[in-house]
Amino acid sequence: MVANPASLFPNHGNEAAAATSGKLLAVEHVNLEYRTRERIVRATHDVSFDVYGGDRFVLLGPSGCGKSTLLKAVAGFIEPTSGSISLDGQIVRGPGADRIVVFQEFDQLPPWKTVLQNVAFPLRVAKKLSRVQANERALHYLEKVGLASFANAYPHTLSGGMKQRVAIARALAMQPRVLLMDEPFAALDALTRRKMQEELLRLWEEVNFTLLFVTHSIEEALVVGNRILLLSPHPGRVRAELNSHQYSQDSFGRTDFQRSVARIHHLLFEETEGAQ
Ligand code: ADP
Ligand code: MG
Repeated sequence: MVANPASLFPNHGNEAAAATSGKLLAVEHVNLEYRTRERIVRATHDVSFDVYGGDRFVLLGPSGCGKSTLLKAVAGFIEPTSGSISLDGQIVRGPGADRIVVFQEFDQLPPWKTVLQNVAFPLRVAKKLSRVQANERALHYLEKVGLASFANAYPHTLSGGMKQRVAIARALAMQPRVLLMDEPFAALDALTRRKMQEELLRLWEEVNFTLLFVTHSIEEALVVGNRILLLSPHPGRVRAELNSHQYSQDSFGRTDFQRSVARIHHLLFEETEGAQ
């Protein structure tokens, strides 16, 4: 069942589509599979969605529903068995600097490089910037995430939250067409997680990027996203798409927020509801 966004959250149009340049990423009827020696595991079934410039588009679903696989396919690491993924009208055929991924793990920063070197290195390699230009841009984005004073520190001296900030700065410095995030805050403690969600929203306002964000947390999806794609349990199919831009950090605990959480929970886990 695919619910109509307007019927879930009335009185809210699609602000992102209106505010920006149009369709950026198109995922059309995508099936994704893993072929092991014994069997074929279908990760997603017939998934379609569009991401518009300036969106904070969230893929939400239970563990194992194929969210990471979908994100990897958008990143170009995995090829769909059928269907297509295109960015700016071009079919995605492999990884590229126009799509950068921030992962959940804290060890995504090479430990032998300083914070500044971690952020500057991909700029020199992929963007062919000089050392001076790369360092300048790296420092600019480190300032954005509040870590300029840690430019010369090594990753092992940083907290988990700080490491994720560096990973975000490194990704944003590349100025990708879409920033891809796979449960980037899931390994953080609850308070840090909330803080990081807030910072991500602030960054989005300041830097103005397009985000494709994966989470299994309904609350996180509502806070971070302006649009949410609900995926059913394994294999992931589209359950519904809905608008959520009316929520922010301040919404936690409010009754309308809690009502939306309950409604999404129902859509995700009560198989029969859609058939009625
Ligand atoms: P999610 O990120 O939503 O938790 P994944 O995309 O990681 O889900 O996985 C989707 C499905 O694909 C799961 O059933 C998982 O067991 C399976 N899967 C993931 N990676 C592999 C792999 N490398 N080989 C075989 N099956 C895999
Ligand atoms: Mg995952």
